[in-house]
Amino acid sequence: MPTVSEQTKSTEAQSEPTSARSYSGVGVTPGRIVGVIRKMPSPVSEPTVGEQLSGAPEDAVAALRTASKAVHSELKNRADGAKGASKAVLEATALMAADPLLIKGGIKLINNSGLTPERAIWEAGASVAEMLHNLGGYMAERAADVLDVRARIVAELRGMPAPGIPLSDTPFILVGEDLAPADTATLDPSIVLALVTSSGGPQSHTAIIARALGLPAIVAAAGVETLTDGTEIYVDGAAGTITLNPGTTERTAAEAWATTSAILSVFDGEGRLKDGHLVPLLANVGGAKDAVKAAAANAQGVGLLRTEFCFLGRDTEPTIDEQVEAYRGVFDAFPGKKVVVRTLDAGADKPLPFLTDASEPNPALGVRGYRTDFTSPGVLERQLQAIALAAEGTEALVWVMAPMISTTDEAEHFAGMCAAAGLTIPGVMVEVPSAAIMSASILTHVEFVSLGTNDLTQYAMAADRQLGPLAELNTPWQPAVLQLIRLTAAGSETEGHHKPVGVCGEAAADPALAVVLVGIGVTTLSMTARSLSAVGAVLASVTLAEARDIAALALTAPTATEAKARVRAALPILAELGL
Ligand code: PEP
Ligand code: MG
Repeated sequence: MPTVSEQTKSTEAQSEPTSARSYSGVGVTPGRIVGVIRKMPSPVSEPTVGEQLSGAPEDAVAALRTASKAVHSELKNRADGAKGASKAVLEATALMAADPLLIKGGIKLINNSGLTPERAIWEAGASVAEMLHNLGGYMAERAADVLDVRARIVAELRGMPAPGIPLSDTPFILVGEDLAPADTATLDPSIVLALVTSSGGPQSHTAIIARALGLPAIVAAAGVETLTDGTEIYVDGAAGTITLNPGTTERTAAEAWATTSAILSVFDGEGRLKDGHLVPLLANVGGAKDAVKAAAANAQGVGLLRTEFCFLGRDTEPTIDEQVEAYRGVFDAFPGKKVVVRTLDAGADKPLPFLTDASEPNPALGVRGYRTDFTSPGVLERQLQAIALAAEGTEALVWVMAPMISTTDEAEHFAGMCAAAGLTIPGVMVEVPSAAIMSASILTHVEFVSLGTNDLTQYAMAADRQLGPLAELNTPWQPAVLQLIRLTAAGSETEGHHKPVGVCGEAAADPALAVVLVGIGVTTLSMTARSLSAVGAVLASVTLAEARDIAALALTAPTATEAKARVRAALPILAELGL
């Protein structure tokens, strides 16, 4: 369990009124930063059902109009100062705050039903969102904006801080319980210096986004929610520690990190060990924009295209044409290079309304990933056709893999579907322990496997990857998880398949773990483009024989903490680089 340690310096405390305090959590992205904190406001709670006005309706109507205007101009100002995708998100949300349908709906409920302006706008927002949702397509995607806007108007009416990432002209460290996916759209790394959350796991999607932005980040740091705005802290993203009242040591470490991070920002485009053994380093991407950035960062290809990210929030199946366009954008960024396309991994924390059932009692164990082919036949087949069409005429080397494969039969069936679509390099993800155990058999049907260590860890340890209190269980440093990775790699060797065994989970982005994975027998690593240079630098410091010895240290450790400590002790370069 993450602990909050409060060390009061006994002697100094008498002369110094402020005590030095530290908190610890799970480090997600390395980085040493000193800065002041701004806290994520708490989510806006729903006004009581039927909440009645006590004053005059005309005053309530005026209050509602003033609040919505204030929200509109605040969002508009933010949009004016934003760029790219964030600007578009903010502009769309600003428009919603002035939407006559929404505001008139609220006014009607005040006048006709005597509701408070908070309750009235809440209900009006729900009706507009439902109407947009029913229209489907692009309009349905705007439903979330309406719900965001109504929360902002309610916060304004209550005189509370607006939900979402706080506005600031000066850089700050963001501290919150967790981030909603929509908040991440407006997370600007030039203003947000680091991210610290009291909940969330190291493999949650908040953590994945922090890594993608290269933002020093710590999750599951229990207790940080009690810190107040303006407090100065020191964050060590590799160690997972937060120190209040930073002194000279912390400031010097932060300055040194600024230099190291500049050196570590370039990957030369070839992953190799000290002895020249090649370990291709690929990128995880969620669409064409990411792919272009990954190519600019010299990724050697794409090891995981999360196709569901191209269609999140959609309540209808994307057409073949839409899919071809989305995939081709990625292929075009990597001519002559490998691009591993993963078929839709809908379900659990990534619901796609047209494929998954939101009412499932146990979504992580439910119909997700490849299993949606059982309940929605045809979608996977059409996706494979779209991938094949997108691959035509591009120079990318297209590989395809299915998520959440549990049995050899499933792998064989998927390989058959790929062949029918004309896709010649089928593979599967190893995310379920049964697939790790059966990898030798599975590899008789497919050309490669890719370890999804995020889910493999959650299923091996029976610990929800989103949950902060389970963060200590939910780490791929767990020797049990490392043993499953070893079994998977051994499955390729013992049967004489010698087929590629990649890792595309977050484990690949941890430079220390990357050495262990290569020592275990993993042949390629795929990660967020931001991690390529750090992983590349650490891999280049060991030979294959050394990596094997280091892997043995981790595999034979009794605990995750011990495995990590042993490996870090064997790799002094990590401390030198502040990783
Ligand atoms: C994984 O589970 O490790 C993986 C790469 O898939 P995702 O994180 O998208 O579930
Ligand atoms: Mg997964």
